[in-house]
Amino acid sequence: MSRYWSPFVHGLVPYVPGEQPKLQRLVKLNTNENPYGPSPQVLAAIQAATGDDLRRYPDPEAELLKQAIAAYHGLDPAQVFVGNGSDEVLAHAFMGLFQHGRPVLFPDITYSFYTVYCGLYGIAYDCVPLDGQFAIRVADYARPNGGIVIANPNAPTGCLLALADIERLLQANTGSVVLVDEAYIDFGGESAIPLVSRYPNLLVVQTLSKSRSLAGLRIGFAVGHPELIEALQRIKNSFNSYPLDRLAIAAGVAAFADEAYFQQTRQAVMASRGQLVTALQALGFEVLPSAANFVLVRHPQQDAAGLAGQLRGHGVIVRHFRSPPRIADFLRITVGRPDENAALLAALRAVLASV
Ligand code: PMP
Repeated sequence: MSRYWSPFVHGLVPYVPGEQPKLQRLVKLNTNENPYGPSPQVLAAIQAATGDDLRRYPDPEAELLKQAIAAYHGLDPAQVFVGNGSDEVLAHAFMGLFQHGRPVLFPDITYSFYTVYCGLYGIAYDCVPLDGQFAIRVADYARPNGGIVIANPNAPTGCLLALADIERLLQANTGSVVLVDEAYIDFGGESAIPLVSRYPNLLVVQTLSKSRSLAGLRIGFAVGHPELIEALQRIKNSFNSYPLDRLAIAAGVAAFADEAYFQQTRQAVMASRGQLVTALQALGFEVLPSAANFVLVRHPQQDAAGLAGQLRGHGVIVRHFRSPPRIADFLRITVGRPDENAALLAALRAVLASV
């Protein structure tokens, strides 16, 4: 606390990211990173962009990257916004599209950064309870609102909402923006991007951190009607002219060019997820149906925080959320490479045998 702070800073409740341990040898299954490295073509593009040009500022509009994203998804570049990770894109969207006085709606169990942005920008919000199976019921969102935010698949549950349900939500809600956060969509869901040309209030946000294995570079993007994109551009250009550096722009373009690597690695993650789910169920865990690169699991006899602590003792880190209370009994486990998943299962067997 300092008397030099702007008064509102005293009230901020910042997001707490998962641990990035300094120890190298841990099996790290706590922050939903991709277990495979970026495409070799991406690494080559970063190397090619590393040179004397770094003395110059990057293209403030990252046009090449917007064009690559637009071409990949069959859109016009005017429908694309890029930012420093999808967290920054989400922050701009909350600031630019959700300050209407009425509460923004999102599920009671979802990505906890949404409430943080509301706190930062003084936006009212209402949390809409997931049903007993942790599913989103779109009918519950049919009420006056300043915007709707759906993570799809949801985090940290991994549960997927069908594209038809997203479309029903859009049809019932034309008076405010519907933001669909598709951070994990490439691991088994159907993207809402094809709907943006038909629904002028739809903003779809994606990231290159997960399915394209570039969490360390920070590249996220939004697609939507050019008028929505214009709001994000205005905020970005009032905040930071150059959110994406030269290496990130080059890498992002290369990532969309290597379709074979993208397909191969996301299929590998999905196949591993299936095997991991079966093995966890065999150990007695309840596993929520996941379309993401992580699973949310609960053991009927074991305390989740205790399990996470014991796993750490075996060199495996997973994520435990103390709140909201409905998920306090669960652990969120990122799908790793087969050897990492095997290490997790061996550690779990040892822990369960010792109690
Ligand atoms: N949305 C969701 C649902 C997430 O889980 C994450 C990752 N923490 C993000 C957005 C942000 O990802 P990034 O900023 O790396 O693009």
